[in-house]
Amino acid sequence: MKCQRKRQNSLAVGMAALALGFLMGFISANGAEKSRSGGRPNILLIVPDALRAKQLPCYGYQHIRTSALDSMVRNGVLFKYCFVKTPDTDDSFSYLFSGQWFGSEGLKKGEKTLAQYLKEDGYHTVGFISSNNLMSLKTPPENGYGRGFDEYFQDEALARPPFQRKNEKTTADILGWLDRSKNLSKPFFLFAHYVDPHSPYEPSYDAEIEKIDHELDCIVEKLKELALYENTLLVFTSDHGESLGDHGSPDGHGWFLYAEQIQVPLIMKFPGNRYARLVDQVVRHIDIMPTILDFAGVKFEKKSMNGESLLPAIEGNNKLGLVSYHSTGPSRVCPEGLNGVIFEDQNRIYHYIQGRFSSRYRELFELREDPDEIHNLVENPRLAAVVKQAQQHVARFRLQPKTSDQKTSSEPPQRIPREKLEALKALGYVAGGTPAPSKMSHDFLMQIRLNSIGTVVYSDFIRHPEWGKSLQDSRSPRKLVTVDNDRFYIISEPRQTIFLFRKNEGFRDLTIEGVTDLVPCSDGKSLVIVRQKRISLLDLERGGADRKDAGLGKLFPCLGLRSDPRNNLYVLMEKRLLKMNEEGKIIRTYEVSVPDSRLLAIDGEENLYLGVLGEIQKWSPGGVRLQSFGRSELRGGICSLAVDSKGDLWVLEKDAPAVTVFDRNGVKKGFFIYNSYDEKWERPVPCLQLFICLDRIYIMDSWEGIFVYSLK
Ligand SMILES: [Zn+2]
Repeated sequence: MKCQRKRQNSLAVGMAALALGFLMGFISANGAEKSRSGGRPNILLIVPDALRAKQLPCYGYQHIRTSALDSMVRNGVLFKYCFVKTPDTDDSFSYLFSGQWFGSEGLKKGEKTLAQYLKEDGYHTVGFISSNNLMSLKTPPENGYGRGFDEYFQDEALARPPFQRKNEKTTADILGWLDRSKNLSKPFFLFAHYVDPHSPYEPSYDAEIEKIDHELDCIVEKLKELALYENTLLVFTSDHGESLGDHGSPDGHGWFLYAEQIQVPLIMKFPGNRYARLVDQVVRHIDIMPTILDFAGVKFEKKSMNGESLLPAIEGNNKLGLVSYHSTGPSRVCPEGLNGVIFEDQNRIYHYIQGRFSSRYRELFELREDPDEIHNLVENPRLAAVVKQAQQHVARFRLQPKTSDQKTSSEPPQRIPREKLEALKALGYVAGGTPAPSKMSHDFLMQIRLNSIGTVVYSDFIRHPEWGKSLQDSRSPRKLVTVDNDRFYIISEPRQTIFLFRKNEGFRDLTIEGVTDLVPCSDGKSLVIVRQKRISLLDLERGGADRKDAGLGKLFPCLGLRSDPRNNLYVLMEKRLLKMNEEGKIIRTYEVSVPDSRLLAIDGEENLYLGVLGEIQKWSPGGVRLQSFGRSELRGGICSLAVDSKGDLWVLEKDAPAVTVFDRNGVKKGFFIYNSYDEKWERPVPCLQLFICLDRIYIMDSWEGIFVYSLK
């Protein structure tokens, strides 16, 4: 490729070019290259995917070389503090192309895009994309990112694995287009998306950044060759950053709001090198669109955008006073999602982060002094006013009205019932409503008052970053038991293996596969394991390695097991439930149909509670059905049941993040909402199981969250 030869040359003369940068730009601006477009600038927007600012030499990283980008910086404007709202590709491009905060999941009807504005004002608009996220074939199609582009290059192969294409293919398309479009009568707007340095990192994240720099170099060389360079506004940014393991996060992006995930490069090189400076203030991704339109002389309704033109800062105004707002949805490492703001106060740049739904995560960093966000200042009494200011910013952003079109892309599968939302508010699950720990960790506790029960103290330990990391491969937990609140046995998909987890030791694979159910014996010394056509005992005293056959092999198909405090074993079969004593003798048969053992609980007196068709049936130890209850209280259906040591029945609901507690007579004693909510879809994160051991209540959801409550 021609540009590769040029790259070698440019490396050889790199330092000389560096020194001459300003001068050369100045000369050619007044030199022979002429605009074909009657003075209106061409616009080239280049967006590599998942490129965090702090991994670039121009942002202080010294381990790679990016000569093309450095040249842009020397001849243009570098924005030191540019932030995206959400570290997510879909969301981020919605904001970039609409200049608005509140679009997401593709563009919305009625939102006029950057390309539409430019096209209507006489530009030829062309887009090149490298991953399926940006295909215009999204549903509904009019919400796709191709809207407003005269030409939108989207390789059909992007719809199939691996859903992305190589940089050089995209660049070849761009160079080909530039060659073919030499004689365009209009100025052009060219948008180029590259998938690198997004994972997989081949061979490394750093190497992929150097590849991106090479693509930029190729494009710049072509612009020069075609005498287009001097009349082109070049804009370089990314859709979000990348964690690279910082702050204990798994690799990737999307869950935390630390700078590595939301701070992106923003570099603009203007025609004729008209502006060259460093902008040291807070700017936002949504400001890029109005800045481009402003510079291109395209009229737009300022009120229709949340973003603001950065031209004043580009021209030297150092008092923009912008506030950057951020949010993420829930994830396995961060259960409820986060809100955050970045703003300036007395020449400091503060970054405040809090839980989206409660304020149990609260962090405050000062970015000029602490760019790596190591020192959480949220408890610093001298900064109380700053924290208050930050919370007001968050509250104000949360209150901004959404436009009526913004929920058209897809319907949430389940909405949380109105009365439960009210209950949620009443319990203080709103920003600022709940006492918060100073630092996000697996050890903090949060208190929830339950009127008639007392107080449950809450701790969220599984979404500790270490859990997220170690379970980040395809494994995910499906069922959890513990005999002592110390050793946790977890059935994990996909191979239904058992993991032993202890807080200070992490995970250990017990190398037992195909486990469909797991039940601790009441003596705490062994676990009963159900596998395909085999039930066996796992002896915990001997390190959990010794197994012996329990002789229950004939009881199949077995849907699950439970034990009671007298060490009776309950074997759930398709249309009946067998009660066996310690010797393995069947002492009772209940004619009942229950899909699995999560819908079965047994109290200290051997009464049975069964979740059947949205209500709870209570059966006596003698096999008599005593009563049914809960139908009107449990509107979200039943996911899982357990009885505590006092004989109260705890019911985890299926379609709401709610737990209802009944006494032994079926009278409702209390209700609470646990903190697992997917705000994007306005629904709870689907739950899996409620489990009680001694005074501890465990709730596991399908985002690998385990919420631990202890009853005070
Ligand atoms: Zn992305």
